[in-house]
Amino acid sequence: MDRNEALFDRAQESIPGGVNSPVRAFKSVGGVPPFIKKALGPHLYDEEGKKYIDYVGSWGPMILGHNNPAVIQTVKEAVDNGLSFGAPTQGEVLIAEEIKKIIPSIDEVRLVSSGTEAGMSAIRLARGYTGRNKIIKFEGCYHGHSDALLVKAGSGLLTFGTPSSAGVPADVTKDTIVLEYNNCDMLEETFEKEGEQIACVIVEAIAGNMNMVPATREFITKMRELTAKHGTVMIVDEVMTGFRVALHGAQSLYGVTPDLTMFGKVIGGGMPVAAFGGKKEIMDCIAPLGPVYQAGTLSGNPVAVACGLATLKAIQEPGFYDRLSIQTAKLISGLVQIAKEEGVAFSGQCTGGMFGIYFRPTCPASFKEVMECDTEKFKTFFHAMLDNGVYLAPSTFEAGFVSITHDDSVLNKTFEAARKAFKEVRKV
Ligand code: PMP
Repeated sequence: MDRNEALFDRAQESIPGGVNSPVRAFKSVGGVPPFIKKALGPHLYDEEGKKYIDYVGSWGPMILGHNNPAVIQTVKEAVDNGLSFGAPTQGEVLIAEEIKKIIPSIDEVRLVSSGTEAGMSAIRLARGYTGRNKIIKFEGCYHGHSDALLVKAGSGLLTFGTPSSAGVPADVTKDTIVLEYNNCDMLEETFEKEGEQIACVIVEAIAGNMNMVPATREFITKMRELTAKHGTVMIVDEVMTGFRVALHGAQSLYGVTPDLTMFGKVIGGGMPVAAFGGKKEIMDCIAPLGPVYQAGTLSGNPVAVACGLATLKAIQEPGFYDRLSIQTAKLISGLVQIAKEEGVAFSGQCTGGMFGIYFRPTCPASFKEVMECDTEKFKTFFHAMLDNGVYLAPSTFEAGFVSITHDDSVLNKTFEAARKAFKEVRKV
């Protein structure tokens, strides 16, 4: 038994399923997850000392690669000043100003510690601001694990969500309407019927939690029109896409100005920072200015904020997103080409440093099409890649991430592994 296996066995004795977040347990692909000891640049090293090229990047934050020297130095300096004060700090002002500078739709921003908190708080704020209860989310989008958002589509055209997790009372999700992603007619119909009761629409403009599925421009434009017309708050969840698909986020690519935006992942550079922000008129409804309560012991933690700020500075280097986009596009075109040569039905797409790969002939445009991906082929591919030193997200329903340290030699090693892996897939 190697050290990873031994640790996984041991972990299961004291941690439910051996992990602190479910997807890490490799449940959908099977096998033992490597226990990671350290990471550098594009690489992870497990407890056995095995090296992997990392396309998960801690699920998005590590856009600079692991252990970026400038970021680590900044964090060390912050640590020397103390870990947490529970009082205002200069760093919080600087990071808020930086976010405002980069994302023009933000007048004011509040820091929290996870994307889940950002989503939960943004929805409470939208409800408090509008005085309405109903919210719209889309099938396949994920906005954290707060109760009202853990819903799946029920039956019928206008679908009131039913809880997708045990422990969520149906009463809590009765005001969550779940609609089809990229379905403009359904959205329009819902607003016609009950637009005046809808507090907010929450959306991933480029969905990354049903693998990667970009919204159509028409869908986002229609959403902005309808929400503006009905006094509904439009919340764009950029926890994954913010500072990832482009410096100015997915909203810049769609030319849309949301009322509220959620951030996470890259904004903390690998430490627990997330945020929600937007129009002053709405943000001013939050305590201590307004009646919507929201708080956090470690919100704006000085060490985490230092890490986030150093990361936000680094991504603004000239040419950063050009280089990141080029490397990601090379990765995807390389994989698609090799799959073609090996006779495997496979497709892929990317935006900035985010990508989706699919075991189906064309890229999916909806949740339903994502569901048509061949999960058995993915499983085989995933394990063959892992065996050959490439660490992909352990599920066919996750997006992938490239960092600025993924240079051509890293991509070429990935292609060597992929050729072997596609040959295995052919046998399935
Ligand atoms: N929104 C989106 C779009 C996400 O991808 C995630 C996490 N994958 C979240 C919200 C929740 O963030 P966290 O895991 O930090 O709670």
